[in-house]
Amino acid sequence: MKDTSPFILIVEDDPALSEALHGGLMEVGYGCRVAGSVKDAEEIIAVNLPGLILLDMGLPDGEGAELLDTIRKAAPALPVIITTARSELTDRLSGLERGADDYLVKPYAFEELLARIRIQLRHAQRTRLQQQVGDLHLDLPSRTATRGGRLLDLTPREFDLLVYLSTLQGDVATREMLQHEVWKVNSTMTSMDNVIDVHISRLRQKLDGEGQSSLLHTVRGVGFVLKEKP
Ligand code: CA
Repeated sequence: MKDTSPFILIVEDDPALSEALHGGLMEVGYGCRVAGSVKDAEEIIAVNLPGLILLDMGLPDGEGAELLDTIRKAAPALPVIITTARSELTDRLSGLERGADDYLVKPYAFEELLARIRIQLRHAQRTRLQQQVGDLHLDLPSRTATRGGRLLDLTPREFDLLVYLSTLQGDVATREMLQHEVWKVNSTMTSMDNVIDVHISRLRQKLDGEGQSSLLHTVRGVGFVLKEKP
């Protein structure tokens, strides 16, 4: 059975350290996997996305910073904590510039690491409950949508539609995707294209207030995309 539960990926080439981290994190209840090189880490990430990555900068087959680029392409919001030796200060800076969320200088106390992990996981959890596209803000727990501070009066379906489109982060949704993911209809017996088009056009009217640029774009022959610029 494929394990899809969130785990912490420890990218570390020092076996004694990775073993200690693995043991310590498992003991407090985190699922963990260890990668000793850039290649190992890439293989794991390609199959299952971790919930958080602890990333050593100096790895035998490359720099942790390069791996960070790959991670950011695959999962822009995935929390990454860089761990680095004091002598690798420039690496640390380049890591932060490339979008790491936090860093720890070795040697660090395990309790300190745990605290940082908790902060990052909590933050990631919150991010999933809030979506932002341009000046459009979606609050999932309260199911409210505001654009530039203006509260939008949406039907439940329109809200679901917006949430789904926002999670695609600028990728196009086809009508088939919307039918399946928003309307939860799998049957292909009847086309829902008209229903979907009507909802999209109504939603677009509600989204775009006076003087506001369009956020919901039609990609001719393909589908729809929610983003600032078409
Ligand atoms: Ca190292």
